[in-house]
Amino acid sequence: MADILCQCGELIDLDLVPNPNEFYIVADALIERMVDRIVDLLGSADTPEELSQSVWKVFSHYYTPGLMWMVECPRCGRQWVFARSTDSIPAIVYVPEEHNFPNQIDSLKGLTDSLENGWFPPGWQDGQLPPDVDRLPDTDQLQDYVDDNDETVN
Ligand SMILES: [Zn+2]
Repeated sequence: MADILCQCGELIDLDLVPNPNEFYIVADALIERMVDRIVDLLGSADTPEELSQSVWKVFSHYYTPGLMWMVECPRCGRQWVFARSTDSIPAIVYVPEEHNFPNQIDSLKGLTDSLENGWFPPGWQDGQLPPDVDRLPDTDQLQDYVDDNDETVN
């Protein structure tokens, strides 16, 4: 695909690998199918390289129809959604409507970078990331979720 010329004037470079402006969009209904395919591949690959190549195929629209691809403009945040990574015409283009951290996070790329680096907006939902590299606590260590009526939800 050629680079994207955004309506804001930004020329979005698509040659970077990995590209910080590109995201996959995975429908919840597809995740189980993708995980099942990856589990099937675990038993059929002879080498780690063969397994890696096969898993990457799962992350393509050829093997997982419905898996979509999105490019975010680094200047204006406009999000270009493509039905297939080989398409040159987006299926949908979104324009960001609201930023809850306008001076801290103004894009999905910015949010991704922040989360990868362990930074989370102070006070956001009163949640905190674990301080160490193990960012997935055991479920019995999770705080109870309290809904808008101050009732605990399990
Ligand atoms: Zn733009």
